[in-house]
Amino acid sequence: MVEQLGFEFAVAPKRLTKVSPARLATFADCPRRYRMSYLDRPTPTRTGPWAHSTLGAVVHNALRALFELPPERRTPVRAAALLSEQWQDGGFADAAQAAAYRERAKAWVMEYVEHNDVSDTPVGLERWVSAPVNPEPGKPASMIIEGRADRIDERDGELVVVDYKTGRRAPDEYEARASQALAMYAVASARTLRRPCNRVELHHLPTGTIAAAEHTDASLRRHLARAEETAEDLRAATDSLADGGDARELFPAQVGPRCAWCDFRPSCPEGQQAAPAAKSWELLAP
Ligand code: SF4
Repeated sequence: MVEQLGFEFAVAPKRLTKVSPARLATFADCPRRYRMSYLDRPTPTRTGPWAHSTLGAVVHNALRALFELPPERRTPVRAAALLSEQWQDGGFADAAQAAAYRERAKAWVMEYVEHNDVSDTPVGLERWVSAPVNPEPGKPASMIIEGRADRIDERDGELVVVDYKTGRRAPDEYEARASQALAMYAVASARTLRRPCNRVELHHLPTGTIAAAEHTDASLRRHLARAEETAEDLRAATDSLADGGDARELFPAQVGPRCAWCDFRPSCPEGQQAAPAAKSWELLAP
């Protein structure tokens, strides 16, 4: 997680923390969950699969497979067929519920292809992007941001980060603008692919809506500054743990309603006390 960069002479090596949007969000939500997800080995006991996660993964995989086809084959019928090919039942209440959601998800991807121009081939599909950055311009890099963007389009010479959503609620423009993950992908995409990237979009399949935001250099820097604060806390806790610090104190349980559907609930007594367990299909879009 922490990488040594630099030279053995003239300057001390600079330690750059590698952070992904997922790691930062997990640590900010609950340090205990971060520790169990990324540091504890063997990985503590987790819940079984969640239907909403299965559904999200299937839709992502189907859309990825669709955009890997030549443009003339990206039809609604083909999208539905790919959805069926990718289908999994993990986390659904029973076969009937899974079948109902499979049909619903087929309709989502068919409508997506009908109502959006899918003829341009993206420059990135689940593309890994990475960049050393510093929120303050002109300063040496202070961390490496990295992650896998769902889709990166190129429109009029600029990159656009596209993130697919399949949750219960359609995100709005505010959420697109406030998304640290999208901002980090925009910065990392611009560096990795060497083209400007300011626009980010959330594509919500259940409603067919697109929430978009145009970032400025200043708004991207603000996101990076917040990301760096979390990265610093994360690095300090990780280093102290490696030095023999108390795991429970360094990575405290941050209980809340989300403990009901946390993957690590079976290994977290505090979370079990905080909220009753959700059924594995309760977070599906209604
Ligand atoms: S159950 Fe709650 S407190 Fe425990 S790790 Fe998960 S989110 Fe954190």
